[in-house]
Amino acid sequence: MHNGQAGNLCVPVTMRDVICQMMGSANKLIRCGSFRWCLAVLLAMLLPEAILAEKNERTKGAEAEPSSLSSVFQVAGQEITRGERKDVGLKVSESFLGAVVDTPVGIIRGEEPGPVLCLVAGIHGDELNGTEIVREILETHQPEDIRGTLIGVPIANLFGFVNQSRYLPDRRDLNRFFPGNPRGSSASRIAHHLWTVLRHCTHLIDFHTGSLHRSNLPQVRGDFSGEGVLELAEAFGAAAIVHSQGPAGTIRRTAGDNGIAAILYEAGEVMRFQRAEIRRGVLGVRNVMVSLGMRDGRQVDLGPRTVYRKTRWVRAEHGGILEMYPSLGEWVNEGDIVGVISDPLRRDKGVLVSAHTGRVIGIELAPMVIPGMAVMHVGITSSLDEEEDGMELLDIDRPR
Ligand SMILES: [Zn+2]
Repeated sequence: MHNGQAGNLCVPVTMRDVICQMMGSANKLIRCGSFRWCLAVLLAMLLPEAILAEKNERTKGAEAEPSSLSSVFQVAGQEITRGERKDVGLKVSESFLGAVVDTPVGIIRGEEPGPVLCLVAGIHGDELNGTEIVREILETHQPEDIRGTLIGVPIANLFGFVNQSRYLPDRRDLNRFFPGNPRGSSASRIAHHLWTVLRHCTHLIDFHTGSLHRSNLPQVRGDFSGEGVLELAEAFGAAAIVHSQGPAGTIRRTAGDNGIAAILYEAGEVMRFQRAEIRRGVLGVRNVMVSLGMRDGRQVDLGPRTVYRKTRWVRAEHGGILEMYPSLGEWVNEGDIVGVISDPLRRDKGVLVSAHTGRVIGIELAPMVIPGMAVMHVGITSSLDEEEDGMELLDIDRPR
């Protein structure tokens, strides 16, 4: 049955009736003749509550927990209630042999409500330090130890992990496809499955290392324009804190776009368990949990912290074999000779000069270079008054 009055939208009377009843209208069908009008009034009545509910869901702090987790939380069809711990396999894809590919997810829920902290490692399958950090955090916490919920994904990119590769089998970078699409590319589908769990986080830490043949000084990165991000980065306690928005499609940027305070911990190099970097990462996560009120204890001082609001790369001007002088963590000045490039018979071709003053937060490990190759990442301290132009991205999928 449809409303046939001129000027009104053609809507079923039953639907209109329901809306009018919600509005408390005495004369439902006559006074509520215009569905558009009804809808506008109804939205005006409901919107403040909707906004408040969304705000409450994203409020940071030990007292806040998303309403989606308030009683029962489901992952891969399994229910996890408060005070419970479960390790589940989240189906994200299928292998070339037709086997189900389940990403292991550890969920620990305290009895008391609180923040939902997600730890994601191995989204680049060859970056392993974070995998060990997440494993240790999951192993050393039980429901009675925490308030709120801890969600750990030690190996987000199982295909890359098995193949000892950054990428998925089709050479796509999984960390460019969030939040994903259930009917999209293989990468997009995997991202979608992961996001169904991670979208419940209030806080997220994504773990990385330098890419192939590069090493990074332990550092935390985040988009400090996001609410609570700088506080999260400072709570972690890494010596270097770098402002960086991150490329589109990264889990970190997607989290930020969805109101989740997200940071990234970068430390070391691929295909290693580097104990010093792992130890710093474990302590950093514990510091964050203490800061959020998720666990008892005191924050551990990991040394003086410096915030770098922009970074720049030093690039080789010649091809050849590079001998670089500074190590990770050292300071360089603009104009310093920071390396020499020679040919295979060790005849000098030129020197490497730093165009920037700052701290070396990332270096190239392989000695072979060609003109334009980025070999040294320099973190530059700057006052808040200076232009905050963030990180000079080295996106190895789209080099420039
Ligand atoms: Zn990475």
